[in-house]
Amino acid sequence: MIIAIYPGSFDPITMGHLDIIERGAHIFDEVVVAVLENPHKNPLFSVEERKLLIEQSVASLSNVKVETFMGLLVDYLRVKGARVVIRGLRAVSDFEFELQNATMNRKLWPPTETFFMPTSTNYSYLSSSIVKEIAKYGGDVSGLVPPPVEEALRKKFNRG
Ligand code: ADP
Repeated sequence: MIIAIYPGSFDPITMGHLDIIERGAHIFDEVVVAVLENPHKNPLFSVEERKLLIEQSVASLSNVKVETFMGLLVDYLRVKGARVVIRGLRAVSDFEFELQNATMNRKLWPPTETFFMPTSTNYSYLSSSIVKEIAKYGGDVSGLVPPPVEEALRKKFNRG
């Protein structure tokens, strides 16, 4: 039984994240989407809001769970009894940072293995930050985020 942890900020979850989750769920026995509560970041959505939006977006995937964590990823992995991490790669620009993280995580806890999944091409330009920017100015984010997120963004920015 291989449990894969997919960690991230998910502020908010996008179709790019969902694509990685769906594909990961076909490969691994269980995927745990782990929402990072980072006290140094000032997220648009609280960690509980982010968790709920992911839960609503993955409701049809029976082997996907959503949790939150704080602190070091390797400590969370140990508590979960998991050693596989999934990270998505959009472009070469993601690679350097991701390689640094993966290498450091293995140094901190050698059993850790990071699996990189390339994004589907139609989502390679997509990020949570760009979605927030578009929504803030009333732009159309349909097709970029799951429907519950579209609705939550509208409410957050007081657009009905
Ligand atoms: P973090 O702050 O940890 O980078 P994010 O929520 O931005 O958290 O991203 C979580 C993971 O999802 C990362 O591995 C990131 O590369 C990946 N990711 C982000 N956007 C996309 C996308 N459009 N397609 C595929 N993977 C993505």
